[in-house]
Amino acid sequence: MSQPSLSFEFFPPRSEAQQRRFWQTLGCLQTLNPAYISMTWGALGSTSKASLDVLENLVKDATVPVTAHLSCSGQTEAQMSIMIEKLHALGITRFLALRGDNSATESMDAVDRASGEQTLAHASDLVSLLARDPSRDITVAAYPEVHPESPSAEADMFRLKEKLDAGATRAITQFFFEADTFLRFRDRAVSAGIHQTLVPGVLPIHDIQKVADFSSRCGATVPEHLFTRFAKADTEESRRSEAVEQCVELCQRLRREGINEFHIYTLNQAPLAYDVSRELMGRSVKETAAA
Ligand code: FAD
Repeated sequence: MSQPSLSFEFFPPRSEAQQRRFWQTLGCLQTLNPAYISMTWGALGSTSKASLDVLENLVKDATVPVTAHLSCSGQTEAQMSIMIEKLHALGITRFLALRGDNSATESMDAVDRASGEQTLAHASDLVSLLARDPSRDITVAAYPEVHPESPSAEADMFRLKEKLDAGATRAITQFFFEADTFLRFRDRAVSAGIHQTLVPGVLPIHDIQKVADFSSRCGATVPEHLFTRFAKADTEESRRSEAVEQCVELCQRLRREGINEFHIYTLNQAPLAYDVSRELMGRSVKETAAA
């Protein structure tokens, strides 16, 4: 089996200590030669300025391509166009186009008070805007367990197809913990006529309780057997090796089903993401040698 193609997601560091850890993490993970790295936008309480600031340095220093996440919720087309131009001026041509969560429900059919202009309500609006320049590489988000606001799995799939067809080449999924969750989602997507690449988003379980709290807000399910599995790990070291093993097992199962591209949510922490990636690459080397 060929080496998996990996990408790593980071969020903008906020404190000086986080800054130091971020650049160390980045340096460490770049040695694995990922296909690209991505920087979130306005997520986890950070501002778009925080993302812009770090992106400016990142495009200069990164040794691999950089994808900027960009969210459109509450922004008019004119405001978004200015932001896209700013990112372009930094040298960014790769985008993960999102609606974002900021006052999302209020933003439907909302109007910008200063200009009186309609604001963009859905990620598909941003994809259409970005796709006016065909040189841009556009990715969107997808939800194997259905986006929490969606009325049904069918409606969500229809919306996914709509935003992909507006000009995106791939979708990265929300994290999930059962391979079958992704595989069933992929089957439904193919039946719905989606032919673009679906990339599994993978979250190594650094802390099962924190991940469970976070997951419930994202519409992802942590299966009971994982709580049991992690409860048995009672030292830092055993929790870490359990996390690596669980994540690698998940990816290996997907690889056996023909998936060889993974997006890893690093949470700006190198050790787990690094160990998972090394293990995945190591196993593909061993498998090739054994074949
Ligand atoms: P959309 O595609 O607009 O979908 C949102 C909801 O609206 C869905 O229920 C969809 O079915 C529905 N919908 C879509 N189009 C229509 C329409 N035309 N009419 C009616 N309903 C419609 N958030 C951040 O703030 N910053 C980040 O950097 C970030 N990165 C992310 C990366 C990944 C890989 C993922 C999976 C999520 C990320 N998010 C981020 C979270 C994301 O912003 C939220 O999940 C948000 O709630 C939805 O964003 P979306 O782009 O999927 O929205």
